[in-house]
Amino acid sequence: IETEVAPASTSRQQRPKAVLTHPDRLYWPDAGVTKAGLADYYAEVWPHIAPYVTGRPLSLVRCPGGITEQCFFQKRAWKGLSKSIRQTPDPKSSSKEPVLSIDNLEGLYGLVQAGVLEIHPWGSTLAAMEQPDMIIMDLDPGPGVEWQQVIEAAQEVRERLEKLGLAAFLKTSGGKGLHVVSPLKPDAGWDVVKPFTKRIADAMAADSPDRFVATVTKSKRKGKILVDYLRNGRGATAVAPFSTRSRPGAPVSMPIGWDELGGEIGPAYFTVANALTRLAHQQSDPWADFRKSAVALPGKK
Ligand code: ATP
Ligand code: MN
Ligand code: MN
Repeated sequence: IETEVAPASTSRQQRPKAVLTHPDRLYWPDAGVTKAGLADYYAEVWPHIAPYVTGRPLSLVRCPGGITEQCFFQKRAWKGLSKSIRQTPDPKSSSKEPVLSIDNLEGLYGLVQAGVLEIHPWGSTLAAMEQPDMIIMDLDPGPGVEWQQVIEAAQEVRERLEKLGLAAFLKTSGGKGLHVVSPLKPDAGWDVVKPFTKRIADAMAADSPDRFVATVTKSKRKGKILVDYLRNGRGATAVAPFSTRSRPGAPVSMPIGWDELGGEIGPAYFTVANALTRLAHQQSDPWADFRKSAVALPGKK
């Protein structure tokens, strides 16, 4: 049975409608968010999310039965994939298996229809797959780390990035941590960008060994923050701004201003339920200058 999501206001009538099977399926039973509700959320945030999810290879967390059923992390095509999801051969994959991407809101609806609850783009576009156009420093608090420490870590990452000539933007992860993101002019390759981010993580761990680690070893993380630079390798991904998370409460990853840190906002503060209100009422978009602020990776090529 195919049902069309009815537009909730006249201003939405120009938008393509989501054609969804099982629109009432509860994707987040605890938060009461259905498949149709998810499509509606993405229709509303479309102007904000589009620059970060279109025209880039995507990894996807699919939970066809919602967050209480099994989820799959998928990088490649599956049976019954919608035509609205583009497939492009990956020149570096031995099997030349295509990467997945979307071009427009219809593609995003295709993801919703497929039970995609998290969208994880590459840090590069299809137009320049080998030259990342952003850096993501993912701050992962280990057990026993207080939120204030995560805030201070993000501020330190920002200082280090800015000293190196990069701009630094901030978002909640919708999980446990924060992401600091720097836009790049796509120029340097992955083989240069990843070591650049590793040097920052290593320097933080060397300067404050009691606060930071730069290696993923679980046993070393108690009471410390992992400065996870591994999001910056070819084929690695991080959750997109405004993407939902397949976790209780229907949290979303939300761009925030640096001056918003330290208040009531925690890592999973923003959800499908309150994100649209925030966007409607925010004085200015904290990521408005994101693309404008891009510079080529400083230092050696
Ligand atoms: P948190 O704030 O809770 O850390 P996060 O999104 O930063 O949220 P991480 O565990 O730090 O979560 O990052 C995992 C990242 O690794 C994801 O963003 C995703 O892009 C990538 N990833 C790679 N493989 C997987 C997988 N099998 N399942 C989920 N994520 C994966
Ligand atoms: Mn993280
Ligand atoms: Mn991580």
